[in-house]
Amino acid sequence: MKIGFPRALYYFEHFPFWAGFFNYLDIEVVTSPSTHRQIMDEGLKKASDETCLPLKLLAGHIRFLKNVDYIFLPRIVSVEANTYTCPKFLGIPESVLPAVPEGMNVLTVTLNWRNGKRQVLKELEVLGSQLGKSKSDVRKAFRAGLECQHKYQDSMGAGWEFEKSLRESNQPSIIKKPKDGGLNPDKERLRIALVGHSYLTHESYANLNLLNKLREKADVELVQNVNSEDVESHLSELRKKIFWSHSKQIFGAGKKFVLDQKIDGIIYLTCFGCGTDSMIQELVSRKARENHKPYMVVTLDEHSGEAGLVTRLEAFLDMVERRRAHEGYVSTYGKCLDRDSNAL
Ligand code: SF4
Repeated sequence: MKIGFPRALYYFEHFPFWAGFFNYLDIEVVTSPSTHRQIMDEGLKKASDETCLPLKLLAGHIRFLKNVDYIFLPRIVSVEANTYTCPKFLGIPESVLPAVPEGMNVLTVTLNWRNGKRQVLKELEVLGSQLGKSKSDVRKAFRAGLECQHKYQDSMGAGWEFEKSLRESNQPSIIKKPKDGGLNPDKERLRIALVGHSYLTHESYANLNLLNKLREKADVELVQNVNSEDVESHLSELRKKIFWSHSKQIFGAGKKFVLDQKIDGIIYLTCFGCGTDSMIQELVSRKARENHKPYMVVTLDEHSGEAGLVTRLEAFLDMVERRRAHEGYVSTYGKCLDRDSNAL
C-alpha cells in the first residue's frame, strides 16, 4: 500500500512522525516533489483566493501525488496542551478537497493533543483499522513514529539543516545535536535571526531561496533552534496567552532574538493571508523598535520577485553592518549614529 504525503505545511514539522508510523505498519510513504512553478500554479487554481500561500501550496502538492492508494490529509487540532493550531490548519482536509484528483481516496485522522495521548492513540487505532492493522501494531507504530519525531527535534540547534535532519531522523543512527559552536561562529560575520513558520523559512521555492541567500552572508538563527523553555520564559510579560502553537513559538523566539546582544538583526518572514502573523508580526516589531534592533519584514505571495528580495536583503544587511560599526559612536548631540534607522 502507498500513501501520498504532500510536501507542504505539516510536512516541515511532523513528517518524521508519520513516516516512522506508516513505515512500521509496512506502508510506503510517497511524497510529492519539491515545489516548482507548476505546483504553485495548480495550487492557485484549486485553492480558495482568500487563503494563505502555504495552503495554496498544499493544494498544488496534492495534485502532484500520483500512483498512490490514498492521499493523507490529517486534521491537526492541537500539538500540546492549552494551544490550538491556526484556524486554517483546522479546516484541512475539507478546505483542500477541491484539489484532490477525482476518484482518489483521502485518508484523514483528527489529532488533538489537548485531549491527551490516550485519545490520540484511540484516533490512530481507528485510522489503523481502516488500513487493516491491529491495535497492537498501531501502538507500536505510534512509538516508532514518536521516536523518529524526537530524534528529528533533538537534532535542531545551531547549524541545523532541515533536509539533512529529516533524512536522518528516519534512520536508526542517532543524530547528534550540534553544539552551540555548530555555526562555527566568526566574530566578523553578521548574525541574523530569520523568524517565521517552518513551512515558509524552509520552503525555498516560495521564499525565493531566502535562507540560503542569507546563509551566504551571515550566520542564521531560526525559530526552530530555540527550545521550549526559552520560548516559555519570553512569554511571561503577555497579559493574555497566545492561543496558537506556532505563534507562541514565533513570538517567544522572536523576543529572545530581540534581547540577544549577539543577534545583529531580525528578518520576519510572513505571507499574505496569514491571520495569526498579522498580530504576532506587529508584536515582534514593537519589541524590536523598543530595543533598537534592526528589523525587516518580508511578505511572500505567489507574485514575489527575486530581484526585489535581493535588493532589500542587501540594503538591510548593509544597514545592519553600518549599525554594528557605528553603534559605539556618539555624536556631538549625544545620540548614537543610526539610532533611529533600525527598520527598513
Ligand atoms: S498560520 Fe498563517 S500561514 Fe500558517 S496556515 Fe495559518 S494562516 Fe496559513
